[in-house]
Amino acid sequence: MKVFITGGAGFIGSHLTEALLEQGHEVFILDDLSTGAAENFQPFKTHAKFHYHIASFTDVSLVNELVDCADVTYHLAAAVGVKLIVESPVRTIETNVRGTEIVLAAAAKKQKPVFIASTSEVYGKSTEFPFREDGDLVMGATSKGRWSYACSKAIDEFLALAYFREKKLPTVVGRLFNTVGPRQSARYGMVLPGFARQAQSGEPITVYGDGTQSRCFCHVKDTVRALIGLMQNDRSYGEVFNIGSTREISIEDLAKLVKKEAGSSSAIEKIPYEQAYAEGFEDMMRRVPSIDKVRSHIGWEPRIGLEEIVRDVIASVA
Ligand code: UDP
Repeated sequence: MKVFITGGAGFIGSHLTEALLEQGHEVFILDDLSTGAAENFQPFKTHAKFHYHIASFTDVSLVNELVDCADVTYHLAAAVGVKLIVESPVRTIETNVRGTEIVLAAAAKKQKPVFIASTSEVYGKSTEFPFREDGDLVMGATSKGRWSYACSKAIDEFLALAYFREKKLPTVVGRLFNTVGPRQSARYGMVLPGFARQAQSGEPITVYGDGTQSRCFCHVKDTVRALIGLMQNDRSYGEVFNIGSTREISIEDLAKLVKKEAGSSSAIEKIPYEQAYAEGFEDMMRRVPSIDKVRSHIGWEPRIGLEEIVRDVIASVA
């Protein structure tokens, strides 16, 4: 198959590319290298079935051409990372909404299947644990910049589902929960690569707030297996799926685990939220997915445990 990936030089995009090339597919990526990096595709840059375009998705004719030539498109290009979102809200909203509009409009011309990457952020402040795909989304005030990310992604989801219902376009939405692994940059505020780097260098490991907030971390290799599995199944079209791990850990315990696995002497330091983030920030205390739907649909569940994930990330920043 020919596969087109927007954001293919990003963290998840590069792992998806690698997995698809390993399966013998031909992969075309588009990336403007704004948060992605050319070094992410260095390992397979010269692969005969790998093609890259360094350009923005606002180059509509190029997007049209790539969507047309591919059998399936994965739309992963997006503004991500809490730090980036709070600091650059205009870029976040415009990138996330316009990119999806352009890709879906291109795909609709020839009814090409599209995967739209969404996020667990869309559940917002919901407390209906574990989060189920048909549960309510609970957003905060528009004055809190963080919610612009959730809302922009929720619009992407509405649009993907609307294209399916109204134009019969085969779309699939995946809500990704804290995906981690090698090549993820700490630059945009993601916790695990940051902790791993701090532990390796002996700097204090910075836990924001009181550290009781929790997350479930999924290895990117498991995540891309779900993405590929969902797009290989016709029954996924018009559906939304949570993709993540159900193993929950508090951020303070994560800091301890990283410290232990790295054999580090770093101190664990608590930093108040007001100091850690720009104004407009509001954290979520828990975020746990139900993965019943994706499990019953394609038999997927994560295989890589948290300790192995942490070791893999530490090794990658060494
Ligand atoms: N976090 C932290 N220290 C850091 C970076 C993040 O304690 O250096 C916390 C953050 O406040 C949040 C959790 O780790 O509670 C996960 O943050 P991340 O930005 O990785 O993902 P998200 O908030 O989107 O789940």
